[in-house]
Amino acid sequence: MLVLSVVGVVAVAGVATAGVMMAGGWSAAEPAPTAQAPAYRQPTTASPAPEPEPAVSSTTASAATTAPTGESPQRIRPPVPGPGTVITEGPKSAGRKVALTIDDGTCASCVDRILDVVERTGGKVTLFPNGVYAGSWEPQAKRIRALIDKGQVTLGNHTYSHQVSTQIGPTAFGADLQRNEDWIQRTFKVTGRPWFRPPYGDRNAAIDAAAGQRGYRKVIMWSGTVADSQPRSEGYILDAIDYWARPGSIILMHANYPATGKALPKILRMLERKGLEPVTLQELLAGDPQAR
Ligand SMILES: [Zn+2]
Repeated sequence: MLVLSVVGVVAVAGVATAGVMMAGGWSAAEPAPTAQAPAYRQPTTASPAPEPEPAVSSTTASAATTAPTGESPQRIRPPVPGPGTVITEGPKSAGRKVALTIDDGTCASCVDRILDVVERTGGKVTLFPNGVYAGSWEPQAKRIRALIDKGQVTLGNHTYSHQVSTQIGPTAFGADLQRNEDWIQRTFKVTGRPWFRPPYGDRNAAIDAAAGQRGYRKVIMWSGTVADSQPRSEGYILDAIDYWARPGSIILMHANYPATGKALPKILRMLERKGLEPVTLQELLAGDPQAR
């Protein structure tokens, strides 16, 4: 329940309603319940398509996937303010790459298991931790930093306290985003910039601008979700991946319940069978001048 797009909340409520109504039986006069479709199939991106942004020079674009030896791909640099560009999927140039993005971290053992899988398989994921769940992340800081430096993890900012940004407004939002950046820097010795994932997928132009002003110029939405903000089975999650995974996908996942980490090895194998290549967000967007 922690991370749902605004549309997603409606979708989950719809499923719950369907469950109650099914217990009592559907009358013949009623139309078939559309809410029977799994929650992961509900539209998840009410946001507009990525907005154009002035292209940046190709000299910065080449450093994306291969950092110089000894230098973290996310080493701390001064923020580069700019407009906040909304991104829902990879560019055409990404080919058959997909990005698995994993938010929150309410469950410490789930974070641990996901990292185990990434280390064991050589898989690549993007993590959007909240400082409010520091207890899940801080014990893993060294592992995560090592995975970042190996190019297996991109770390982004999901705000410190996971509030509804448009309700608290751009000023309080900006402070909370910065609080998480400060926590990321202290904990992992890297920056989360320029990647921002809005809690609940909740955003508007003022929030995008506030993020961009702080160097969070990439507002990362998603093209598909496994709807694992609540407990799911491994099978459910794999069905969702099967449904959404396609070239350029950005898939929304969470480190909140055990099934996600349990399913992760199978997810990676499924992507391989589909001829898709899981990569970090940094790698997915590397070739897109609009996404840098
Ligand atoms: Zn979240």
